[in-house]
Amino acid sequence: MDLQRSNVVVIGAGTVGSMALWQLSKRPGLTVVGIEQYGRVHSHASYAGESRVFRTAVHEGGTYVRMIQRSRDLWRELERESGRDIYAEVGCLSIAPEGFPDFETALGTVREFDLPHRTLSTEELRAEFPQHRIHDGDVGLLDAHGGGLRPEVAVMSALDLAEANGAELHFNTAVIDIEERANGVVVRTTQGAWLADSVVIASGSWSTRLSPELNDLLRLQVLGLTWFMPKRPDLFAPEQFPAFLRDAGSVHFFGAPSFDGYAFKACTNPEWPVYRDVAEVPTAHTREELIRIGQRAAELFEGINPEPVRESVHHCAYTPDRLPVVDRSASGRVVTVAGLSGHGFKFSPQLGEWAAGLAAGDDLDAISGWDPRFALPAHLERLAVSGPYTGGGH
Ligand SMILES: Cc1cc2nc3c(=O)[nH]c(=O)nc-3n(C[C@H](O)[C@H](O)[C@H](O)COP(=O)(O)OP(=O)(O)OC[C@H]3O[C@@H](n4cnc5c(N)ncnc54)[C@H](O)[C@@H]3O)c2cc1C
Repeated sequence: MDLQRSNVVVIGAGTVGSMALWQLSKRPGLTVVGIEQYGRVHSHASYAGESRVFRTAVHEGGTYVRMIQRSRDLWRELERESGRDIYAEVGCLSIAPEGFPDFETALGTVREFDLPHRTLSTEELRAEFPQHRIHDGDVGLLDAHGGGLRPEVAVMSALDLAEANGAELHFNTAVIDIEERANGVVVRTTQGAWLADSVVIASGSWSTRLSPELNDLLRLQVLGLTWFMPKRPDLFAPEQFPAFLRDAGSVHFFGAPSFDGYAFKACTNPEWPVYRDVAEVPTAHTREELIRIGQRAAELFEGINPEPVRESVHHCAYTPDRLPVVDRSASGRVVTVAGLSGHGFKFSPQLGEWAAGLAAGDDLDAISGWDPRFALPAHLERLAVSGPYTGGGH
């Protein structure tokens, strides 16, 4: 088989892959190829589903704040360069019973990093956000830099810009395997083979198929999305209704304002087991699941029809502690980004920037903000103590 040449091949033109392609395409003199098993922006990837929550007031603690702040700048840059609306900074509202652990961590994060925010009492929540059914004892945290991202538009924009900058993109082309050689990495696909100086593997839920060393670390969590029709859609428009996280007892909901003018997104905890391969993942909710989600939504939102008007089921690769894998092999030729763990869309521009730097051979010290805990050996060391991921909320 003839080998085509390229400096860098990016495997997977999804969330991270598109951001890496965009960044790599800006580097002068570098030939860049992107390979995607499905078409240009599709419904099978972990980015599918209209919106993604962006928040700086993260309850996962401060590890993510620098990545998120850098990503916020890059989301704006992507909007400017593409001329498209990608990030609606409408705020992100966390509502939880006073003292709820995740809420307290998020509050600690905004205070520690001096992030713009407002706290709201039960009465203030009731007065200002009548769309939410506020329970006695609920308190609020409005993250002013939070909001809703439009994932399909983001991926399309990054790919279009990469291509306009000279990257060569191949769709409906699956990578079958990769082989490291002394003079580069051979990438074999269903439509030919490339010899690259380096590769970025950004294959999301399919990661273990190309990188078996991730087998023990990654598990697939199934995440369902549901949209509800309010009686007053105007109250759920982006100008009125921030993205949100809600905790009530053991129930967790997250969602986004209405981007289509008739329904808003409100989704709850996954209740599926974890899986190892995409082929095992269910593709739809059952009727019973939809009835239960609708009942819970009706307890949290005012004036909604409890039957989801749209629903879809997705998957995402998780690490046990939800830190992403961002690593380069000993040879320096294979860069792996994986395990975005159900919260990585918001900081994917930063991951793409790191992947581009690693693939282009930048010094690890020059990769600003990269954390040694993201390296695969560090993940595997922690895994030996924690054991594999066994399930959990979004
Ligand atoms: C339902 C749901 C809700 C979420 N909500 C949020 C949220 O509100 N906020 C947030 O920040 N994050 C959220 N996330 C997480 C975030 O969307 C994902 O973590 C992120 O999209 C994963 O990006 P990725 O690049 O790893 O994978 P993907 O975006 O899935 O990209 C992987 C790509 O690689 C391709 N590929 C795989 N194997 C091959 C191969 N062999 N050859 C060629 N191509 C291949 C795939 O087709 C795919 O296009 C959510 C995730 C889900 C599923």
